[in-house]
Amino acid sequence: MKQLSSYRGRKVVVLGLARSGVAAAKLFHGIGADVVVNDRKERELCPEADELTALGISVVCGGHPEGLVNAETALLVKNPGIPYTADPVVEALRLGVEVVSEVEVAGQLSPAPIIGITGSNGKTTTTTLTGVLLEAAGLHPLVAGNIGRPLSDAVQEVDPNGWLVAELSSFQLKGTTDFRPRIGCLLNVAETHLDYHGDMEDYVGSKAKLFSNQTASDVAIYNADYEACVKVTLGVKARHLPFSLTKRLSAGVCVEPPYADIKPGAEGEEDTPRWIVSRTADGAEERVILVDELGIAGRHNTANALAAIAIALSAGAKPEQLVQALKNFRGVEHRLEFVGTIQGVKYYNDSKATNPMATTMSILSLPAPLILIAGGLDRGSDYMELLPVFRDRIKGLVAIGETREKLGRVAELAGLEAVKLVEPMKDAESTVRRAVEEAAAMAGEGDIILLSPACASWDMFPSYETRGRMFKQSAHTL
Ligand code: ADP
Repeated sequence: MKQLSSYRGRKVVVLGLARSGVAAAKLFHGIGADVVVNDRKERELCPEADELTALGISVVCGGHPEGLVNAETALLVKNPGIPYTADPVVEALRLGVEVVSEVEVAGQLSPAPIIGITGSNGKTTTTTLTGVLLEAAGLHPLVAGNIGRPLSDAVQEVDPNGWLVAELSSFQLKGTTDFRPRIGCLLNVAETHLDYHGDMEDYVGSKAKLFSNQTASDVAIYNADYEACVKVTLGVKARHLPFSLTKRLSAGVCVEPPYADIKPGAEGEEDTPRWIVSRTADGAEERVILVDELGIAGRHNTANALAAIAIALSAGAKPEQLVQALKNFRGVEHRLEFVGTIQGVKYYNDSKATNPMATTMSILSLPAPLILIAGGLDRGSDYMELLPVFRDRIKGLVAIGETREKLGRVAELAGLEAVKLVEPMKDAESTVRRAVEEAAAMAGEGDIILLSPACASWDMFPSYETRGRMFKQSAHTL
């Protein structure tokens, strides 16, 4: 993308009126561009439009009008969720109009250096923890991006002497051209996501954009336990800084002694004390913290902590500044969140686990056997990926939502005796309540009940947050 000021007096189309669209529209309007904002939704479903029209920005709702993007258009700023097959995007690409996401715009404007964090799973946890660690080290972070606050809004408030910590989805990265984070971090690449995308090259290619504009003065942090992550960093000019649960790295952040696998399960492994160690290329080594002292549980979260530590150290933090914050950080709501012990049974809310890989990791992170509540939107998977953990670590399944029968079949194949399919009731709240009651009826003193759906929530709920909150409410009011 060209210098922002070069769009003064030129037509810029902003597609999608979510918060990031509003932020981008205001930015371009502010520099004197001729901004047109367009959303397919009807006007009454676009309350954000009022603020923009009051500023004199033209907003068109209720469809994509013919000629929205034309030869006069200098730039199209697209909401990351809008596909490249949408008519205005196709037209822009045909006319040679540059198509970017709001991240590209923000990247150009940030007065502070950017930390970009991406990956298939663990983005929000790692981004949040990174913010906490940088704060503890007095490095003035501002956390934004996919996590909630639009980046182009955050750039106006970030401390120029601090860091802009950005959670980035692959969709956001796909819409970048010159975006260059001072520190980039690639957490992992899940095979399941590759299935959904159909095109591995496109998915991994988007993630690779995180590093592609970096120079030798930047840092590329990546998970050395994933072949796909290692591949992405080949040829990257930035200083390479790997992290690993399973490898003894001569330079990087790793676990000593290393684990046998990224997934837990090996006999006796949990009994060995393990340090998180940082090594630099000049041979210096520092022990940061014992894995057991981390406030977040689960091996996947240890990987997230390795990433956040690598980022914080790269940003200038000292290991001793991080220890207390690492002990205190208990994770983010709806991610393997401990709800409480109710009538002798422990409840965990992992509503954000919306794919089988995430659910598998969570099941493996808790002591077996447990009672699982799962199910949700049917995206066509058969969920056979869950068979091994169902067989080895689950003693009861309560299945809800569109996928309840599929999950029931996997449970049957796994030989589970306690299986309950909960039919949809008058509303989602009643269905969740029934599911919790069924799970509680399967549980005895000391058991664990885990909500980890392996599916998105949109078959019954507006969001995974609503699903998780209903679960917690039902558990607390049993
Ligand atoms: P994201 O923002 O990428 O969706 P979150 O931090 O919100 O990731 O975590 C979502 C879910 O993904 C968690 O509930 C957990 O089950 C799983 N998860 C988190 N971190 C990892 C990881 N490093 N590897 C695999 N699964 C993970």
